[in-house]
Amino acid sequence: MKGLMQDWPLVVPTIIDHARDAHGAREIVTRGIEGPIRRYTIADLHSRARRAAKGLTALGVKLGDRVATLAWNTDRHLEMWYGVMGIGAICHTVNPRLFPEQIAYIINHAEDDYIFTDTTFLPILEAIQDQLTTIKKFFVLTDAQNMPDAKLRNVVCYEDWIGQYDDDFQWADFDESTAAGLCYTSGTTGNPKGVLYSHRSNVIHTLLANSASAFGLTSLDSVLPVVPMFHANAWGLTFAVPSSGAKLVLPGMKMDGESLYELLEGEQVTVTAAVPTLWLALLEYLENNDKTLSSLKSVVIGGSACPQIMIEKFEQNYGVAVHHAWGMTETSPIGTVYKATPETEALEPGGRMKYKLKQGRAPYGVEMKIIDDKGTELPHDGVAFGHLMVRGATVAKGYFKGEGGKILDDEGWFDTGDVSTIDPLGFMQITDRSKDVIKSGGEWISTIDIENLTIAHPDVVEAAVIGREHPKWNERPLLIVVPKDGSAPTREEILAFLDGKIAKWWMPNDVVFIDEIPHTATGKIQKMTLREIFKDYQFPD
Ligand code: ADP
Repeated sequence: MKGLMQDWPLVVPTIIDHARDAHGAREIVTRGIEGPIRRYTIADLHSRARRAAKGLTALGVKLGDRVATLAWNTDRHLEMWYGVMGIGAICHTVNPRLFPEQIAYIINHAEDDYIFTDTTFLPILEAIQDQLTTIKKFFVLTDAQNMPDAKLRNVVCYEDWIGQYDDDFQWADFDESTAAGLCYTSGTTGNPKGVLYSHRSNVIHTLLANSASAFGLTSLDSVLPVVPMFHANAWGLTFAVPSSGAKLVLPGMKMDGESLYELLEGEQVTVTAAVPTLWLALLEYLENNDKTLSSLKSVVIGGSACPQIMIEKFEQNYGVAVHHAWGMTETSPIGTVYKATPETEALEPGGRMKYKLKQGRAPYGVEMKIIDDKGTELPHDGVAFGHLMVRGATVAKGYFKGEGGKILDDEGWFDTGDVSTIDPLGFMQITDRSKDVIKSGGEWISTIDIENLTIAHPDVVEAAVIGREHPKWNERPLLIVVPKDGSAPTREEILAFLDGKIAKWWMPNDVVFIDEIPHTATGKIQKMTLREIFKDYQFPD
């Protein structure tokens, strides 16, 4: 027997409609690419998204067509998201940090008809425009006054364009399984692959993100998503914030410590989110300029492992709670978030830190398990580590155009490519990417643990561990360290610092120093490049 409740479609336009009806006067603040800070309300966003939708319809964009954005977190970018999705077209967020060849590849692969971009990225598009076979027009997200002389064919000024349309427009009618967004993973191996979000998955992810087990936002919050909209949907915040009625603060292109501080204080931000490297810059700015934070309550840190020192500084020096989180483009992206439980609350601060360093627990909607190489499920004892598998309504079931083939096992589990433990309280801890894990004499060594401990050394800026061939153990860890400017730590000092903190057999066989560690387009350590740089390296006898 079927239930007798309404088939209210879970589509993105319901988010912006609700935001207008329930929180229409709430502010959206943007640091414009042109410089000054702009403000308007959710009602304005709704109206302008409808105008954009009307303009797109006039261009002939229809259900299922792809429209690209290559843009920072701004009000205009957000209007395009809601405008494109509101007519059932697909918003393809292009990551400007990809190599130009990769940008050209994904725009062609997605068959984008139009692209909306910031002035900052014009040089990228000017250089590759001849390779872009499907783009009919390039829209620059600025006004006439700031419109540069772009060397692009068919270039349009966004404000001139949107200015031609009023907001007398109805969102299109479509099924909740319709595709809404497209985001390519940075693809450390092979070509990037497109994750195709649906309206339903976006709406469910919004509910999940807003649950108290994840961000738990309310209309009393002021939220600064530093994490870019072009990287895994700004972790869902550009949907979650309007739906919760919180104030939304968009940083534009300025993400240095001083600019972030100005927004955090000026807009009385309560919640913010970004990858660890950005918080390093903010903390450095706060320390060097003797600043305090008057409104910030919590910071969500993910994308790479959050070091202990960062959690300690935020909590002890600034009274800000850190919520370590894990996710990936394929999981929309929230997978796990650190939230206290009665068991962790009952612990001493030192005991609690152990849990804060883990990547957190799965909110309702995400299922996870760990398996060994043979597919046997491993115990949730916090010790056994294996391949992290996830399942749920916000997890990808295949890549755009079938790239990469079948990506789920027979029971619908997606292999994240991460290796982790899960403890009896359900806290998951990433120990490695499966391709980076070091297999020493048949046992696995977690490179992330060693890296995090190493960067707590006062003379170390960044650290990476890679496996190198070893005649007896097959592979052993090589620790690569970037020393702080003006300091010269020695191999012995670093190893002594690690002594007693990790199992003896995890101890790196050697430490080497370099000026810079290479990063991917999403700020992750590029271990493949490091393995290439150190391919001829041999351990000392
Ligand atoms: P890309 O693969 O394009 O760089 P993703 O956001 O999809 O971007 O990357 C997801 C991966 O990032 C995860 O599979 C995991 O390896 C890593 N990751 C994300 N959050 C964390 C975290 N808190 N700690 C450690 N690794 C993380």
